[in-house]
Amino acid sequence: MPQISEIEYLMDKYAAKNYHPLPINITSAQGVWVWTDNEQKEESKYLDCLAAYSALNQGYNHPRLINAAMRQLSTGVTVTSRAFLSAPMAHLSKLLAEICKKEKVLLMNTGVEAIESAIKLTRKWGYQKKKVAANQANIIVCANNFHGRTLTAISFSSESQYRDGFAPYTPGFKLIPYGDVQALEQAIDDNTVAFLVEPIQGEAGIIIPPEGYLKKSKEICERHNVVFVADCIQCGLGRTGKLFACDWENVIPDVYVLGKALGGGFPLSAVVCDSKIMDVFQPGDHGSTFGGNPFCAAVAIEALKVILEEQLPENSDKMGQYFLNELKKIKSPHVKEYRGRGLWIGIELYPEAGGARRFCEALAKEHILCKETHQNIIRIAPPLIITKEEIDWALPRFKKVLQME
Ligand SMILES: *Cc1c(COP(=O)(O)O)cnc(C)c1O
Repeated sequence: MPQISEIEYLMDKYAAKNYHPLPINITSAQGVWVWTDNEQKEESKYLDCLAAYSALNQGYNHPRLINAAMRQLSTGVTVTSRAFLSAPMAHLSKLLAEICKKEKVLLMNTGVEAIESAIKLTRKWGYQKKKVAANQANIIVCANNFHGRTLTAISFSSESQYRDGFAPYTPGFKLIPYGDVQALEQAIDDNTVAFLVEPIQGEAGIIIPPEGYLKKSKEICERHNVVFVADCIQCGLGRTGKLFACDWENVIPDVYVLGKALGGGFPLSAVVCDSKIMDVFQPGDHGSTFGGNPFCAAVAIEALKVILEEQLPENSDKMGQYFLNELKKIKSPHVKEYRGRGLWIGIELYPEAGGARRFCEALAKEHILCKETHQNIIRIAPPLIITKEEIDWALPRFKKVLQME
């Protein structure tokens, strides 16, 4: 019988099986590197090319983030009742509003909670401001979307595994093809309050829409008084080589939904928009015990400053181009396409390649941590602080794995 570790055994015996993790138990980490021991030996060192799905854009154990966390902990204030004020929340709201060039910020915890909040917000805006008929609001979403795992978010997923067995679903959504502006124009009716879209689809496999898609979609929304909501949870905050993926088309969405890297390793998410939308929320309309708590907010302030001051979007752009160009030089019978934007790279394999999972397992043996998305796509998304030397360390390992039988 193959030896399994105690952690694998405990996970198998006691943990819910809603994930299928590789048997790598990370116990210490620094920058783009993780170790499966605490002595940080060479043989237990791995390059993290997943970065907690972009929650670790700033890298592990960033001194400024750890200091901000320690400083806040030393005050003894991690969470307070929302009945009282909190300075970290106030300062974070200001900083985030300025960065997004918007007037108001709503802080939540997880990405999907911010999505739910944006849905509630735009529905209420629709009834109050657009005068949509009672209970008739609809929101347009795209095929192959990923907006999280709550019941409402999976209600408008096109992925059967995300939905099956969880009915009844939340109504009020219309699904259209991604990248198709005509479909958007046709789907809009008098009761449409919002268009919810990922500027680049992440979980779907780093799908970059046709040039001009975001700009044209935004124009169509404006023309029909529909709120353009950009889910920037994974593609935002530098991942694609710009601060926001919408910046590639100089589009400013009406509503930004942010999460993941915003918390600098802790759970924090946000909805950011102008007062004319946000002010439909009045005291008591919406809430969250932990949303924007002083601890996470204090770290998030530093997390945003690190992204801007260390020029992580610029590094993502430069290193992403280098990484992708070098990968493209790897001739492999398994690879259908190398694509990406910034440090967000998808390697799409042919169906005959036997699935991306076996490649991710082989990469783990080469000490590179990646995760497949869907059947046939290897996703590469390291922390945005990665250097050319670190990419050069990884390239021959990718070559070896992509050229295996
Ligand atoms: C991860 C993700 C979410 C959900 O975020 P959680 O923090 O896991 O709830 C929503 N939308 C996109 C685009 C994501 O990548």
